[in-house]
This record gives sequence, C-alpha cells and structure tokens, in this order.
Amino acid sequence: MFENLSERLGGVFDRLTKQGALSEADVETALREVRVALLEADVSLPVARDFVNAVKKKATGQAVTKSVTPGQQVVKIVHDELVHVLSGDGPADALKIDNPPATILMVGLQGSGKTTTTAKLAKRLKEKNGKRVLMASLDTNRPAAMEQLAILGTQIGVDTLPIVKGEKAPQIAKRAKTQAAMGGYDVLFLDTAGRLHIDEVLMDEVQAVRDIASPRETLLVVDGLTGQDAVNVATEFDGKVGISGVVLTRMDGDGRGGAALSMRAVTGKPIRFVGLGEKMDAIETFEPERVAGRILGMGDIVALVEKARETFEAEQAERMMKRFQKGLFNMNDLKAQLEQMLKMGGMQGLMGMLPGMGKMAKQAEEAGFDDRMLRRQIALINSMTKKERANPDLLAASRKKRIAAGAGLDVAELNRLLKQHKQMAEMMKKMGKGGMMKQAIKQMM
Ligand code: GDP
Repeated sequence: MFENLSERLGGVFDRLTKQGALSEADVETALREVRVALLEADVSLPVARDFVNAVKKKATGQAVTKSVTPGQQVVKIVHDELVHVLSGDGPADALKIDNPPATILMVGLQGSGKTTTTAKLAKRLKEKNGKRVLMASLDTNRPAAMEQLAILGTQIGVDTLPIVKGEKAPQIAKRAKTQAAMGGYDVLFLDTAGRLHIDEVLMDEVQAVRDIASPRETLLVVDGLTGQDAVNVATEFDGKVGISGVVLTRMDGDGRGGAALSMRAVTGKPIRFVGLGEKMDAIETFEPERVAGRILGMGDIVALVEKARETFEAEQAERMMKRFQKGLFNMNDLKAQLEQMLKMGGMQGLMGMLPGMGKMAKQAEEAGFDDRMLRRQIALINSMTKKERANPDLLAASRKKRIAAGAGLDVAELNRLLKQHKQMAEMMKKMGKGGMMKQAIKQMM
C-alpha cells in the first residue's frame, strides 16, 4: 500500500540527499514537490497545505546539523509530521470490549468490505483474545448479504444469529442483544445494511439500530481506494451516527494512500484497522509509525536516523582528534567527551575500549565516577560562559560559586571537575605528541 506516495516522495528526497547544504530555496522546492505528491495521492488540499506548512515551520526553525545530510534532516521532519497527523490525539486503543456482551456496530457503504471486515475482526477477537463472539447481519434488503455472513461464520468458526425472514433491522438488533446476553457471548457484531450512496433512509435506519444497540464501538468501514470520497463518507457518517473509529479496506491495492492522511486530519477519528486482502487474516491494526515509514518509502526510519547520528559522531570525533593532536583540550572538548561517554555506556564502556585502561575504569567506578556524575559535570560546564569554557583558568572564586549554584551543585564538585580537566588536558597533550590519541580515537569509533 501507499506505493505511489512513497515513490513520489522518495524521488524528492533522493534529489535532496545529493545536495550539500539545505538552503531556503531547497526547502521551498522540496516541499512544493511534497505538496504535489500529497495531492496526487488524493490527500485533500487543506490537509496537504497544513502538512507542508507544519514541515516548513519545523525545517526552517531547525539549525542545520552540519554532519546530517539535508535530505536526512527533511526526511526526519516529514516523517515525524506524518506520524503526528496519522496519530492525532494519541494512539488508537484496542477495541473496547469490556462489560460483555460488548456490541460493535459496523457501518458503511455497500461494497466497502463491511461484511468481510466484520468476520475478520470476529476471527481476530476469537483467536487473539479468546473471546466468544456472535455476529448478526441486519441487511434485510439483501438476503445474499445475510447468507454471506453466515457462510463466513461457518468458515471461521464464529456463531451467527439465525436468520428470521421478515424482520426489520431494529428488531434483529434487539434479538441479537438478547441472544448475546443469554448465550454468554463476550462480543456482538452488528453488520448493518449498506447503500451505494449515503441517503436519508439508510441513516435513519442506522440511527434506529444504534439507539437500540447502544454500541461500545461504532466502526465505519470505508474503501481506501476511494480516496477523498472515503473522507466525505466518514464525515457524513460521523455527523449523523457518530463513529468511534475507521477501518480502511483494500489497502493492499495500488491505491493512492492519501486517504489515511486526510481521514485522520479531517475527521479527527482514529483509523483502527486496515484491510489488506480478501482472506480472513488480511487485517492489521493501524500503526502510524509503520504507515509513515511506508509512505516515505524509506524503510526503517529508525535505521536512517541512526545512520545520521553515526555520521555526526564520526565528524565530531574527527574534529576533536584534530584539536587533540594540537594538544588542545578545553571545557567544550571535555563536555563532548562526557556526552560521548554517556552514549557509549558510561566510563566503564569507554575505558574498556582503550588498551590498558580496564583497570583505570574499575578504579574510576569505585571512586563514584558513574553516569550521574557525568551528567552533573555536563551541567556544570553548561553553566559556564563561552570564554570560561575555552579557558577555565579565568574562573575567579565568585564565578565558581555562581556556576556551581547555576547547576545546583557544590563548589567542591566544580573544583574536582576543573582538576580532572587539567589532568586530562595534560594527558591529551602527551598522547597527542606520541600519536597515541589518533589510534585511541579510531578504536573508540
Ligand atoms: P460489504 O458490501 O461492505 O459488506 O462488502 P463485502 O464485505 O461484501 O466486500 C466486498 C468485496 O471486497 C468482497 O469481494 C471482499 O472480498 C472484498 N474485500 C473486502 N476487504 C478487502 C480488502 O481489504 N482487500 C481486498 N483486496 N478486498 C477486500
């Protein structure tokens, strides 16, 4: 699913990744293409516009990290925004099926996949949650639809309400409720009738059924291939009946995946499941992270960001190495080192990688040199001015007091840090001269 949108956006980012720096014009161009890609994927205009604006705002406000490629940076921002739009207010919870029998009302247009989805969900609840499920078809206009549900029920081993000719939908709903309660069922699915288009009669009937059934969930099933229409249908149903979530079907087709984006943004209703085929197992919960990854067509976005981070660290290490070789080691270097140590599993982890330092790491730990200490030291360096960091010898007693207070710590701790810095600076100088530092850093990376 989402192939088209993926390909379009993929092309935009390919071009971006090949450039050196992210100029404002680049952002503009890239985002224009993102907007076109979204519109072609049938994302509604206001949603596409809002989306692009949000990305632009974030991209412009963000300092360009030198070592991350512009493409990676924009991809990350676009990804995060996609997740944001797709998740809405928060994660879509599992179906509410407490207080048995919990009624789940299935609504939607004819042919949207309502009956299929009803059976798929029933099977899931039975197999994954060990629930006893009853299904009832209320489609009195189409006896074939009632038959279809009964056949699916037999196929998946889920009970269906016996068909009684001549009953109206609200009557069937009432009988199904009674049957579910008496039969000790946990969940009751009511598969309502669909029409080809939304009309008054249909809505009146669904409302009547809703009032009788008092459902815990009202799930709207919409065909994901219908794009913008799906969003309009959702808006209509939500206004007239009130829905608690959406199931997007046919997301296995090569459709324009924009429906998912617009659906969330326009209706504010969570997409709970996506249908991925005709088979009874072809349904998945809707995962914004995963869908955003698919829309971008960039595979595992986490891996991408990881890669960006590595690039950053390698560059930083190189920069530091050059300084050390010159025998330079100020407070900023110490801070970068401390942060690096935290990332690499603390003092123990870092020292373990340096030849002959295992014993020193142990001693350091015994002396209370742990991650909390690293964080305290970083806080101290953060409360120094730029000048002081470059040359800590400048620090007068009054400034030391202020700095320690700024970090919420003792002056004694600051003095220890300064002493430690001095020792390390000395060591760096010596190692730098002997070319040992280069080797050590290479090992660390
Ligand atoms: P209803 O009229 O809304 O009850 O629709 P049905 O459940 O009868 O589904 C109509 C057709 O769509 C059937 O042939 C289903 O097998 C098919 N269908 C339903 N969901 C999906 C889906 O997620 N993917 C695909 N490819 N087909 C689906």
